[in-house]
Amino acid sequence: MAAPGKALLTAGLAAVGGIVTLSLISTVSLRAFKAVVDKNRRKVAPPCQVCKGKGFVPCKLCKGSSTVSWSPLFDPVFIKPCVCPTCEGNRVQRCLNCIGNGFV
Ligand SMILES: [Zn+2]
Ligand SMILES: [Zn+2]
Repeated sequence: MAAPGKALLTAGLAAVGGIVTLSLISTVSLRAFKAVVDKNRRKVAPPCQVCKGKGFVPCKLCKGSSTVSWSPLFDPVFIKPCVCPTCEGNRVQRCLNCIGNGFV
């Protein structure tokens, strides 16, 4: 027993190295596993019925015209088109049924 401290240190380092390696492997394999599950889920999952798998639906408020016409109550003759506040002019809104995933 020339240097018991050193032997202990080496053993300790080996243990730490083993733990790090193990956790690294488990993290990587978990990621790979998740990717496979995600892939299968996308393949198996039925497309959303509301948006037909697109993930978005035509804006309900402006009906896809990107603007809404509103008239101030005090002057019903004056109609002002303005950018739709729901879709912000995108004409589509995210499907609420699948939260934009396209499948449920
Ligand atoms: Zn809209
Ligand atoms: Zn949907």
